[in-house]
Amino acid sequence: MTPAQVAALLDEPACEHNGTKDREKPVCTRLKPGATAGGCSFDGAMITLFPITDVAHIVHGSIACAGSSWDGRGAASTGPSLYRLGLTTDMTEQDIIMGRGEKRLLHGIKQVVERYAPKAVFVYQTCIPALTGDNIEAICQAAEEHFGLPVVPVDAAGFYGSKNLGNRIAGDTMVRRVIGAREPEPLPDDGHRAGMIIHDINLVGEFNIAGEFWNVLPLLDELGLRVLCTLAGDARFQEVQTMHRAEVTMLVCSKALINVARLLEEHYAIPWFEGSFYGIRDTSLALRDLARLIADPDLMTRTETLIQREEMAIGKRLAPFKARLQGRKVLLYTGGVKSWSVVSALQDLGMVVVATGTRKSTEQDKARIRKLLGEEAIMIDEGNAEVLLGLARKQGAELLIAGGRNMYTALKGRLPFLDINQEREHAYAGYRGMVTLAEQVIATLESPIWPLVRNAAPWHAPLAGEA
Ligand code: SF4
Repeated sequence: MTPAQVAALLDEPACEHNGTKDREKPVCTRLKPGATAGGCSFDGAMITLFPITDVAHIVHGSIACAGSSWDGRGAASTGPSLYRLGLTTDMTEQDIIMGRGEKRLLHGIKQVVERYAPKAVFVYQTCIPALTGDNIEAICQAAEEHFGLPVVPVDAAGFYGSKNLGNRIAGDTMVRRVIGAREPEPLPDDGHRAGMIIHDINLVGEFNIAGEFWNVLPLLDELGLRVLCTLAGDARFQEVQTMHRAEVTMLVCSKALINVARLLEEHYAIPWFEGSFYGIRDTSLALRDLARLIADPDLMTRTETLIQREEMAIGKRLAPFKARLQGRKVLLYTGGVKSWSVVSALQDLGMVVVATGTRKSTEQDKARIRKLLGEEAIMIDEGNAEVLLGLARKQGAELLIAGGRNMYTALKGRLPFLDINQEREHAYAGYRGMVTLAEQVIATLESPIWPLVRNAAPWHAPLAGEA
């Protein structure tokens, strides 16, 4: 990838912070060498595309980039599990000295094609072969012609920039090389089912973590909305190829793949909106927005009926949980779209969010936070252990909800902790996900461990006869 191509990806017109110089904090500019900011570009590209389940994802580089891994993404699949394998060319010093990287890659592709018969092969560029000048483009093209299946180079070497840049490279690669190559399966009965018109939609940035999209899919199906592809949770390669035929795109994770939604609109005139399936209000709003953009009056009516039914049912199921959670304070430290969508879900449970993280949030995300928490909302841009625990104490938070890396911070502070990021094991999306979220919050808050760990240790307790 040339510097000009990287600069073009950083200058994303649909993004609020597109690196223009007059911004106070242009987050999409390149990182300074030595700055640590989460994962590298390769990591960003990998986590975006790995959930495409029937593709062999080969990491071309040293074992240190992604070797010996298994199921690194936590995205669930209804079928193939090929994506769970951590395939790598495992380049060594000898390969670098002898210039054998390209040969090794070609052999690697041959091996996976013969052993696993994937629908396609994605080859991820990493720092070392990018520096030694391996031409993965040419190798992929030769392999594609030789093996007769798509072999897609994902040129996202780690030193190109941040994880977010890697997300965009992955999205851009899909738009330029994959989307548009196939027509969707024709619908039976001339696109009608039980008197309703079936509409095709895309979900971009829905990763089906812990299978949570399966809480939502039956509702879409009931409304006659066929999901052509969720880029990329539980997706198949051939589904990605058909995304150009959708009537509307819902952007689920704006920070990661906003360029895909914009390019689909520019190239194929597909309108898009940003939405969330976390929380009752936001799930209902997302369904309404889908119907509104498709502009089918019958669909709009059926959507309202479904929302009314689901909200009433979930209201009844959540009532006993809400009685126990009402007014309890929580500190949320996550980023991006979750910085506001999880706030909304927690408020739906009657909880009070005392502050929320905004590390990877856009200005639009922050505006939504202010709408939910008020103008004085506390937003945490950079939350180290001291900041998080200090804030929790000051605001009286009883629970920290954050990514897994903050678990030990919370536990050392004897503060109940719930994982909300991709390592989580529970599905929180959709109306049904709210019950799971309420159950997990209660199980965490009311665990009998807390009174025990907060008591003085036996050796600190006063001895018999002491005052
Ligand atoms: S920065 Fe480079 S070497 Fe490190 S993990 Fe990313 S691609 Fe691999």
